[in-house]
Order: sequence, then structure tokens, then C-alpha cells
Amino acid sequence: METGKVIDFKSLTEKVGRFNLSNKTCLIPEMNRIGSHLLAAVFRGFGINAKIMDTYKGLDLGMEYTSGKECYPCQITMGDILYYMQEEAKLLGEDFDPEEYIYFMPEADGPCRFGMYNKYQRIVLDSFPGLSRLKIGSLSTEDGYSLAGIIEDGRVKDLRKASYFSVVIGDVLDRLLWRIRPYEKRPGLTDDFIESAMHLMAETLERLGPAKNFNKILDRLEEIIEEAKRIIDLAVPPKPLIGIVGEIYLRTHVQANQDVIRVLEGYGAEVVNASIAEWVNYISYDGLREAKAGFRLALRQFRLGPMKKHLKDMISFGGDLFYQEFRQKKVYRRVRPLIDLAEDHRVGHLEEILTEKDLLDFDVGTEACLSIPGIMEYAREGYNGVVNVYPFTCMPSTITSAIVSPLMNEIGIPYLDTPYDSSSQPGREAAIRTFMYQANQHFNRNGRKGGTEKR
Ligand code: SF4
Repeated sequence: METGKVIDFKSLTEKVGRFNLSNKTCLIPEMNRIGSHLLAAVFRGFGINAKIMDTYKGLDLGMEYTSGKECYPCQITMGDILYYMQEEAKLLGEDFDPEEYIYFMPEADGPCRFGMYNKYQRIVLDSFPGLSRLKIGSLSTEDGYSLAGIIEDGRVKDLRKASYFSVVIGDVLDRLLWRIRPYEKRPGLTDDFIESAMHLMAETLERLGPAKNFNKILDRLEEIIEEAKRIIDLAVPPKPLIGIVGEIYLRTHVQANQDVIRVLEGYGAEVVNASIAEWVNYISYDGLREAKAGFRLALRQFRLGPMKKHLKDMISFGGDLFYQEFRQKKVYRRVRPLIDLAEDHRVGHLEEILTEKDLLDFDVGTEACLSIPGIMEYAREGYNGVVNVYPFTCMPSTITSAIVSPLMNEIGIPYLDTPYDSSSQPGREAAIRTFMYQANQHFNRNGRKGGTEKR
């Protein structure tokens, strides 16, 4: 730490929140590579100077300025922003002004530690003399990641719609990668293709996103899918299908999870990871659920003020959820006739599974509400194994593991927990290899979702 003043509580409210992004550079951490780049492209289309920060290059800095008790994603993103600032200062010299940037770090109001990342990072940034002027732009699950205030009011709704659309497109490109790579004609073809497809889609979203010209964007996506299909070697037979669930950052951040999908593929798997849009839908669903419960309580107590507030929330969250599910469905309706990509489950359906099997209550909140029923659905649909990917000590994923491991044992589906921190565990590869051996046996005995005929 470079100054004596470590904690300034005023700073947590004045320099963490929703800020207008005009004339600022909005720095977005790279979580899932494709989705982050597409989101930044949409922001740029709306006139926001959005940049994706290099990730993982500042891990040493992240480790230096955390104690080791924080969640791993907090350490990585801490390192990302410190590294970016350090490099920018070197590049710009005297012209470097931290006030010109807004560092984008959302939060959750749920029971786990995600709500504390930006507070902790604020304290660390404040300990550097210059960086105390770098504001943290934070969206919260509390209001369903509302974008109000970051650009002029009249364009907020369009920005939100286009941003959500980019999230779904990012999911589709990710799923295209995982669908094709295990069957590619030559190693490396799919990675190269998807990298250029990402840039193409980013350029398209930046140009057409602000006008919400979604059909035209989907035309371009269809062309990409048609081209991608040519990479598949039709002679390669179907492989065991593995589903991934877990903590959103770890399961999508390739460096943090030590490229677990590629490692699984190396042992003969085809993999489907849970999506990002599912989490966004869950936030709206949960907001609607809470608003309904609040309304019922206020109605019983006949308190008009709270009734009005909860009704307003119900309309707002309900409207978001309806729009998101409608838009997501439309995208998958366009792409699924071209290639058999896995579609997301409706969050309402996932809650039904939890209730029906009495596994967990949605009131608990967190990603466990998605992971547990997600695993049950993978099992029902005929996947050959499930992997739970999460940061070491992650609370929701540990709950998931505790509930799901005995169930998977009972129904005979291979299941693997893979907690990650920055260390390389010597037994990891052996555990994955053993898991894939079991998944192969399951596949040979039961076949898989989508059949075993050549594709
Ligand atoms: S989900 Fe897990 S890793 Fe993420 S903040 Fe919560 S406890 Fe930490």
C-alpha cells in the first residue's frame, strides 16, 4: 500500500455506483472472451468508449493486493485493473489521468461474496494516490442490472435490449465452438474460425445493435454457422456428451479454469457449458419472484405504499424476463435448424425441478439454484457426465456439490467437482482422465443425447 489511508467509507458510496459513461473510457474485465467482446461492441455502438482489459496478465498484482481469503475471481479482476492502469500509465506518461476511466465491476445483493468485490477493490484502488480518482461503475442484481443513468435516458432501454441480445449471440458462438471443435478436420481450425467470427459479430453488433436490427444480425450469424459446419469431419463418430455447471466466472474464464473444456475434449468429450444468458434471466426471474412475495405480504397487511412499490417491481422484472426469454427463443429458433446446439432451460422450469424433488429452495438464492436443477436436466436428457467448475471455497458451488454428488451416485451418472485457485493441482489431470473413462463407459452402455449415429 502506498498511502496510510486505507479505508474511506465515503469512497464506497461516492466512487462505486452507476455513472454516466459519456466522455469516459469504460473498462470491462474479460470473463467469457466472446461475450465480453460482443458486449463492448454494443456499448461502442451506443457511443460509449468501451474497452476489454487484458486478463490474467496482472495475476501477480492481484495476489499481491489480496490476502488469499477472497474468491479467486476477485483476485483475478483485481490484478486485471491494476495491470491495465500500470500499463496505461507507462504508455501515456504525463497524459495519464485515472479520472478518464470507469472500471466496470457489477455486484450481486445475494448471500455470497460477489457483492463485496467492488468494495474491496475500491479500498485497494484508494490506497494508490492516483487511482483513488478511478471510479468503479457497478450494476447490481438488486435492480436487475438496470443501465439507467449510464447514457441518456431515452436510449437506456435500447442499450439494455441490444446488450442482452449480444449476450445470447455470445452464448451461441461459444456453443458453436464446443459443438464443432471435437469433430474438426484439422486441429486449430475451429479456434481460428471462432476468433474471426467473434470479430465479425462484434463489428456487426456495433453497427446494427443501436438500431435493434436483430434480424440482420442473425442473418450474419446464420452465415457464420453455415461456414462453421464445413469444419466438421463427418467421419468422426459422436463422442460422450459432458455438461458443465458452476460458478459463472470460473466456468467461463478459460485461463482461470485451466482450459477445462479443452482438457475434457482432449480425453474424448463433447462439452456443453451453462450459458451467460441463463444467469441474466435468473436475476430477472428472482427479482420478479421477490416482488410477488413482497406484494402478497403487503396485501395481507393492507399497506398501500409497499403494495405500489412491489407492483412496480413486478411489472419491471416481469417485463425484462418476458422480453429476454422471447428474444433468446427467437435466436435459438433461427440457429437450431442449422445445427444442433443445446438450448437453455427456462428458469421457471428449473425452479419446478428443485421444488418437485425438494432439493433446495429458490429463497436461498445464488447460482446453486441454477446448477442443481441444471445437473438434473443434463441427467434426464441423456448426458454422459457432469462437471462442476468453481473457485476454491465458493459457497454456492459447495452447496451444489453437497446436494448433487450423492444423487449422481444414486442414478449412476459420472460427476466431477473441479475447484480452482491459481495453483496447478497435480491430481487434476488424473481426476479428469478417470472421470472421462467413466463417462465413456456410460456412453457405451446408454448412448447419448442426440443419438450415436455419425454426424
Ligand atoms: S459465487 Fe462463489 S466465487 Fe463468486 S462471489 Fe460467491 S462465493 Fe465467491
